[in-house]
Amino acid sequence: MSRELRKNILKSAKRVVIKVGSGVISDHESGKAPLERGLSLKRIRSYAKRIKAIVDAGYEVILVSSGAIMAGRERLNLQRPNLDIPEKQACAAIGQSSLIRSYERSFEKQGLKVAQILLGHDDLENRKRYLNIRHTLEALLEHGVIPIVNENDSVTVDEIKIGDNDTLSANVACMAEAHLLILLSDVDGLYTSDPARTNHKAPPAELISHVDRVTPEIERIAGKSKNPLAVGGMYTKVLAAKKTMSFGIPTLIINGLKGENLKKVFAGSNIGTLFWSGAAKIKDRKHWIAHTLKPAGSIKIDAGAGRALVEHGKSLLAAGVIKVDGKFEFGSAVRILDEKGKEIARGLVNYNSRDLDQIKGMKTAAVRSLVGANFYEEVIHRDDLVLI
Ligand code: GLU
Repeated sequence: MSRELRKNILKSAKRVVIKVGSGVISDHESGKAPLERGLSLKRIRSYAKRIKAIVDAGYEVILVSSGAIMAGRERLNLQRPNLDIPEKQACAAIGQSSLIRSYERSFEKQGLKVAQILLGHDDLENRKRYLNIRHTLEALLEHGVIPIVNENDSVTVDEIKIGDNDTLSANVACMAEAHLLILLSDVDGLYTSDPARTNHKAPPAELISHVDRVTPEIERIAGKSKNPLAVGGMYTKVLAAKKTMSFGIPTLIINGLKGENLKKVFAGSNIGTLFWSGAAKIKDRKHWIAHTLKPAGSIKIDAGAGRALVEHGKSLLAAGVIKVDGKFEFGSAVRILDEKGKEIARGLVNYNSRDLDQIKGMKTAAVRSLVGANFYEEVIHRDDLVLI
């Protein structure tokens, strides 16, 4: 069952988010204690090579990589377990540049460009920024660039942090409407109990190959992290999977210390733990657009645009807009009305009401020359639109 499911997921996937944990790119073969480890260029190179193969197979890849604080610690020679916040932020600042430099060099060797995106909690909460980041990711992927995302650790203190890159990668997967999230961990997946525990009376730990619902029991067995380099551990991975599942995105946890595992996944191997209900669901974000946000105005569209939206699953372009009502900003939720004034959809708009009023009815090329740098091809992108 799981193998068939995985095949189908891979077949219908195009956009994949891959999260690389600090442990996975640390120089753990060096024999150093965990808190003394730094980045392993060899491992980063080998991942660049494997990701290139995935890109060549036709997938779009967004990388979420940890490792900044680890790299900074090593460079500043700070091996104490409890660094204070400014120290951690300093480590992140120095380490992030090493991290990106290593990725950039490694991907360059594969003929691929990379881009750095550092996100904070506020970026995910604020709709305007959220949309901006989405647009940036789209543009990067369209140009064949690998976005490399991390939390903006050097400017956020613990209280307002996203906190761990498992959660961050789930957010990125939802934001980018990815079709699959792969979490590269330092264990093989989720076990029925801690495989390192040596209680001979207890039944041996077994790897769970497929989780179709994150129950309180699954959360309990995910437990808490024991690795001093790992921020989240299995618990945050399971919560990340729960989030992506509710958005309709499957998540796979595999052991990233075994470099060939990534290749195996794309070759259809049944490794790691897959979190997926198998059922396509209404995505939470769309639910949020349709039911949570208060529309700030409305856009009346002509019959042709109505058909494009309803029958052909297209985005809304300026040419189809005939009337703009209300005062709204970029990123606001708006109602989309047909010629008779009946609501047919809702969406997040890429233009404020003043600009939209100016460009309504115009062809895309004319809009582009009128608005210049603020140009968006779609007034409302399909991904930000829900039919009512
Ligand atoms: N953002 C942190 C770093 O780059 C890591 C957080 C995590 O590993 O979850 O060091």
